[in-house]
Order: sequence, then C-alpha cells, then structure tokens
Amino acid sequence: MSLKTQYDNGNIFAKIIRGDIPSTKIFEDDNILAFMDAFPQSLGHCLVIHKTATATNILDIETADLNKVTSAVQKLARAVNAALQPDGIRVAQFNGAPAGQTVFHLHFHIIPIYENMDTSQHGESKASDPEMLQATAERIHQAL
Ligand code: AMP
Repeated sequence: MSLKTQYDNGNIFAKIIRGDIPSTKIFEDDNILAFMDAFPQSLGHCLVIHKTATATNILDIETADLNKVTSAVQKLARAVNAALQPDGIRVAQFNGAPAGQTVFHLHFHIIPIYENMDTSQHGESKASDPEMLQATAERIHQAL
C-alpha cells in the first residue's frame, strides 16, 4: 500500500465505524471514535480515528478533520494517564506499509508505557482477552 493508495471502504476500521464488526469503544461523537486496540502492545493501548473523513493517512486528511482527531488524541491520552497512571505515553501514527501501517484508515495509537511491564513491538502483539479490554475501556471512559 503506497502513500497514494485510494481509500477502501472495506478496511477494518471502516467496518468498525459502520458497526459491521465489533469493537471495544471508549468514546464516540459525530466525528471521532476511540476504541481499544484488539492486539494491545501494553495495558490501555487504544486508537483514535475520524468517523467520516475517508483518509488513508496523514497526507490526505483535511486539516480541520485532523485537528479534531489530534484534539481527541490529547483528550484520550489525558484520560489514559488519569485512569492507568503509566510511567510514559507513546503516541504513534504510521503512513504507508513501508512505515508500518497495516490498516489504511488514518489512526493514532495511544500506548501507555509502564517501567515494570514489557511493551510489545508494533505488529507483534497477541489478541487481548475481550473482558480485559472492556474493563480497561471502562476505566479510561470514567476518566474522560
Ligand atoms: P497500524 O499497523 O498502525 O495500521 O495499526 C493498526 C492497529 O489496528 C494495530 O495495532 C492492530 O493491533 C489494530 N487492529 C487490527 N484489527 C483490529 C480490530 N479488529 N480491532 C481493534 N484493533 C485492531
């Protein structure tokens, strides 16, 4: 998938937005959806996406829409910090397969880092227990 790839409505996050497949939601409004990464690199790894902007990456999203996403990223990072009290927070965003992108709907990762817990590498995590994801989403939601 090059940086010039056209947006595909069949991508997995488009399916999540439409409700065609389930997700563990933390926050949602008319523009933004924040949900748990199903293959978390650490406890509390979550994703923030725009619901209507059909952008594959940071190059092809309208700036106003990007601003809504980044505002939500800050809001979620603050909630993750308050709820889970990590030692650090990594915010990551990948553009194009050579850069590590695997889902071609623009998204930001919020990855809490804990000094005494391992953090997996991007693309190398196992699926999480759905009950653990739900419980963590509720903790973050409460802190919004
Ligand atoms: P990227 O590699 O930056 O495109 O990130 C895509 C992310 O989506 C990865 O961290 C995956 O673990 C995550 N992911 C893939 N499928 C799902 C899904 N069905 N629900 C939640 N997260 C997913």
